[in-house]
Amino acid sequence: MSEKLRFADEFVSDLKESGLYNDIKVIGSAQGAWIEIEGRRVLNLCSNNYLGLANDPRLCQAASEAIATYGVGPAAVRSIAGTMKLHEDLDKQVALFKRVEAALTLQSGFMANVAVIPALVGKGDTIVSDELNHASIIDGARLSRADIKPYKHNDMSSLEAILSEIRTGRILVISDGVFSMDGDIAPLPEIVAIADRFSAMTMVDDAHGEGVLGESGRGIVDHFHLHGKVDVEVGTFSKAIGTIGGFAAGRASLINYLKQKARPFLFSSALTPADVASTSKAIEILTESGALVEKLWENAAYFKRGMLNLGFNIGISQTPITPVMLGDAQLATEFSRQLFQNGVFATKIGFPTVPHGKARIRAMISATHSQEDLDFALAQFALVGRALSVIS
Ligand code: PMP
Repeated sequence: MSEKLRFADEFVSDLKESGLYNDIKVIGSAQGAWIEIEGRRVLNLCSNNYLGLANDPRLCQAASEAIATYGVGPAAVRSIAGTMKLHEDLDKQVALFKRVEAALTLQSGFMANVAVIPALVGKGDTIVSDELNHASIIDGARLSRADIKPYKHNDMSSLEAILSEIRTGRILVISDGVFSMDGDIAPLPEIVAIADRFSAMTMVDDAHGEGVLGESGRGIVDHFHLHGKVDVEVGTFSKAIGTIGGFAAGRASLINYLKQKARPFLFSSALTPADVASTSKAIEILTESGALVEKLWENAAYFKRGMLNLGFNIGISQTPITPVMLGDAQLATEFSRQLFQNGVFATKIGFPTVPHGKARIRAMISATHSQEDLDFALAQFALVGRALSVIS
């Protein structure tokens, strides 16, 4: 390595020493309850494929048909020559599903945050943001050049205290809907009520709420019956929906504004026809039936009950996200390694994704897991937990 790049080597060595190095596993099969890694079939407790749609034959079929008609590439940004009829149809379908006036699909959930936040606020304005908000909210906020004031996680008096001190400019209050590392849900009705008193705009990132909360997985706004009360919902198709892409949803005037203003929409190419058609099929499936969402919650309740009975600390989750709190990063690494040896793929999560000293295994339960799969997972957690003295 050249002298100029020595910092990169040092950074990686430090991570390895402190147990925080992320050894990325390569998957040799389609996503599903069981996947192939390093030539072995392992139970998948890591993906965000909540409903099993990432490899659903109906989505694959829709993608193939779209490729046959529209080809593989969008060939342009949406604002120049990249908006195909498929994109417009998906925008409308997302709006109907989310029960809002309009929606705009973007390339990813990350891009959606980077698109929306700097379009709503800028220099002289203030973003009031939950301290545990996702990295893409933090990056979107930084790009906006507005003042960023974090409030204590889900703490409404902290939110109120910060809002009461802002004197000038536009204000945007942002929260994740479901917090991805702990699985707890933002108190959105209270956030909206408080923000309204200070004439602040409200935005929720529903990445882990779509396909999980609300009627047929319509998300957190539907869950709390807050239609029309949240200024902008940002979301992703990369989790429960099973594909890739993101969106912003809200009033038609706001969506129209974003089409003129949001930089990832104006300067980065559109989603491919296969992405759009498979996403559209997934939303159609959810619109027709809530069965997959119900199965997801059933599976999550079964697994969580099993983990609690074994004596694990599974944190404060209110959703299928199941953190297994271990604290020490080295312990979490070793726990994950032994689970993998036993046929369960569940990666450890450490700093900087969660604070120092709060390392964990995050088990992601899916509608595609059978009861047998979940029993197998519980048995392996029990074995490793006892071997490492996490449970007795
Ligand atoms: N927001 C939140 C809350 C997320 O959890 C994620 C995914 N990790 C994203 C945004 C980014 O979504 P995408 O993967 O579609 O870029």
